[in-house]
Amino acid sequence: MSIHKTEAIVLSTQNFRQTSLIANFYTRDFGKLSGLLKGIRQEPFKFNSSVDVFSLNEIIFYKKTKTSLHLVSQCDLKNDFRLIKNDLERIKKAFSLVRLINILTAEEDKNEDIFNLAVDCLAQLENNSDIDKILIIFKIKLLDFCGFKPHLDSCVSCNNKIIAQAKFSLKFGGLLCDRCVGKDIKSRTVFRGTVASILYIEKNNFDNVLRLGMNQAIKRELNQVLDAFLEFHLDKKLYNEEKVEAGGVI
Ligand SMILES: [Zn+2]
Repeated sequence: MSIHKTEAIVLSTQNFRQTSLIANFYTRDFGKLSGLLKGIRQEPFKFNSSVDVFSLNEIIFYKKTKTSLHLVSQCDLKNDFRLIKNDLERIKKAFSLVRLINILTAEEDKNEDIFNLAVDCLAQLENNSDIDKILIIFKIKLLDFCGFKPHLDSCVSCNNKIIAQAKFSLKFGGLLCDRCVGKDIKSRTVFRGTVASILYIEKNNFDNVLRLGMNQAIKRELNQVLDAFLEFHLDKKLYNEEKVEAGGVI
């Protein structure tokens, strides 16, 4: 058993026995991990944080070797992204963000890019006027950092440059050229702007992509394509069980 200190975003929580809580964190130094906060429900002030979902904390934990549930001895709130909590739509976006990290990342697989992306996006969700765009940026960069990004630079099947209108294939995970489009009859036409937006967001840093303009039609299509891509490759529905439990975050 070893002791560690790291920054941690709360992805989800569940009650444990009468007095304790198990939190699923995404940490800067260890990736996703589960921690037991003993006695927190009996003595709410034992920890300097109420461990709300999507809050950022600094935790000290004992890393167990025989189990994946570690013991958290200290949890200090660094940022509860308070302004998100004033608006139900912002809360929903923040819940989607932590849920996607939970679904897409493996246990204890460190990725500091994902951690920084999540903190940057949560900060933007507090006061950016275009929260749909923030979540789209988050999805595109998260897919890239997780190694799932769609193949859009050329035809996913023959690798030829795409000149004419391309079709997006979920089955192949990218664009198909005119000659290969018959390989997936379910492939769908997408706007050039949708493809260009994904490529731009993948290739540029966060501050630059915040300035990218997106019209409503492109945003709608980006959401459809990204969610379909995620669901197809994860083999699960993303949003049918989504619910915001106000008691947990307000
Ligand atoms: Zn092709």
